[in-house]
Amino acid sequence: VMLSDNKTEPNILKSVYNDIPSINSTVNDFIWQNLDRWPDKTAVVCAATGHGYTYAQTHRMSIAFAASLRTKLKLKNDDIVAIILPNVPEYPCTVLGVLEAGCIASMMNPAYTAHEFKRQLELIDCKAVITSKLSYPNVAEAIKTLKTKPPVILIDNDGIPENTIKFAEFVEDMSIDTDCLKSVQRNKRDVAILPFSSGTTGFAKGVVLTHESVVAINQMIYDPDVLAVEEATAKSQPAIPAVLPFFHIFGFNAVMLNLMGRGSKLITFTNFNPELFLKTIVQQNVEHLYIVPPMVLFLGKHPAVTPEHLQSIKGIICGAAPLSQSDALAVLNKNKDIIFRQGYGLTETNGGVTVGKKTDTNHSAVGHVFGSCEIKIADLQTQEALGPGEEGEIWVRGPMLMQGYFKNDKATKEVITEDGWYKTGDIGKYDENQYLYVTDRLKELIKVKGFQVPPAEIETILRTHPKIMDCAVVGIPDPVTGEAPKAFVVTQKGATLLPGEVTQYVNDKVAAFKNIKEVQFVEEIPKNPAGKIMRKTLKEKYCK
Ligand code: AMP
Repeated sequence: VMLSDNKTEPNILKSVYNDIPSINSTVNDFIWQNLDRWPDKTAVVCAATGHGYTYAQTHRMSIAFAASLRTKLKLKNDDIVAIILPNVPEYPCTVLGVLEAGCIASMMNPAYTAHEFKRQLELIDCKAVITSKLSYPNVAEAIKTLKTKPPVILIDNDGIPENTIKFAEFVEDMSIDTDCLKSVQRNKRDVAILPFSSGTTGFAKGVVLTHESVVAINQMIYDPDVLAVEEATAKSQPAIPAVLPFFHIFGFNAVMLNLMGRGSKLITFTNFNPELFLKTIVQQNVEHLYIVPPMVLFLGKHPAVTPEHLQSIKGIICGAAPLSQSDALAVLNKNKDIIFRQGYGLTETNGGVTVGKKTDTNHSAVGHVFGSCEIKIADLQTQEALGPGEEGEIWVRGPMLMQGYFKNDKATKEVITEDGWYKTGDIGKYDENQYLYVTDRLKELIKVKGFQVPPAEIETILRTHPKIMDCAVVGIPDPVTGEAPKAFVVTQKGATLLPGEVTQYVNDKVAAFKNIKEVQFVEEIPKNPAGKIMRKTLKEKYCK
């Protein structure tokens, strides 16, 4: 990656944070570097059941798991392992074990349908799947359609189906010889994780993130002006509710990896249970929250959330989707001392582009660009770098960037320029004080509760309906989820179709957050001369 030269390219937004030192470390070595400072502290514990593991246990299990993957499943360097789990105490151990084995961890949303798993599993050709009874029926159905059938490891202790492997047997095998791990040579340029994102257009793609890039984002968050959570000490240990899913890059890096590197206690939630969340905050004296906009709405505006519930909170970081100002202010109304910050990032940037300083009170901006990174606001026509106050596409450059999309050079070339800029597909501007503002989205992506809904995926399903001739899906504003998908449908000549039939047809095949909220029948779908759906035109015509 070339560094920008301000003389030739003016208007490049630089970081207010420290540059990160270049280090040569794998993700697992980076996370475990301070293990001996808090071996007996709880690393992860389930909010609902109290079941959990200490740091030493998580470490020991991840090593045994890695050795089992290598010796029992014969996995090799760069083999891909799918991790399909909700936030459970075993999650960090599975990820770190896969990395320890020299393999690549590909995280997926456990709520997916068989239809959704099939596409992603087919794409990555994984050599093993780690999941739980919750997702197993859909995973198993998807695997039936694959050419090579990966072995399935289940984290549950009882009632596991035949032909599956019990996670406990892999991690509790005391006789396992871990010598095989000595030969696992990993370089910082090797691929560590492979989460999914649809990016600017089309279907979900695998996002190739190296050890170096994952370590980089974690170093950036450790900047003293960024990270507010104290390191664990002999006397104290910060407790953080892990309500953001670990399969999404925000929860994966900012919560799971980053806070484990600090010796925090992660309290896992398999889903967002509002009552349990409030109870946990109060009982564990929680000081810091990492949340998405719908959770801010809940904390700020739900009558059941009182100022007492938020008394212990010192800082909140919200990200993954646009935040409504009134929702942030409602939280501050219940506790005015909270430092409320936003973070902005993408799967393609390891979850981070900007974040507010830990003393910041400007919560309408998404903060400042991370250390060692730069932002360019590119004019939509000329791609020239624009100055303060001017809106254009947000481009970013830095060591946390993805290598590209998995086995998809074409899609990679569309978003990464020759001089290393990644085009986010978001519209924004910066001000004189180096704050970035995200104001709109150029790309077609819809975000529901912070989750990605790629319109192309729903359109492809709709097109298989015998009565549908053409269609387009766009995001419409939703007060609770941020956005919701709306389908425009052109029916086949002479066919009659009810809105309910359309929604049912899609909703049977996708996870609940992708469900269509509205259907509108139209005469035709506006397209440009190249045949591309003109989504802005549809929105302006029908959604205002
Ligand atoms: P994902 O890869 O799922 O993290 O999605 C990345 C996209 O989420 C970005 O390109 C933005 O469109 C959106 N996003 C993330 N954080 C923010 C934020 N703080 N404000 C507005 N949009 C955001």
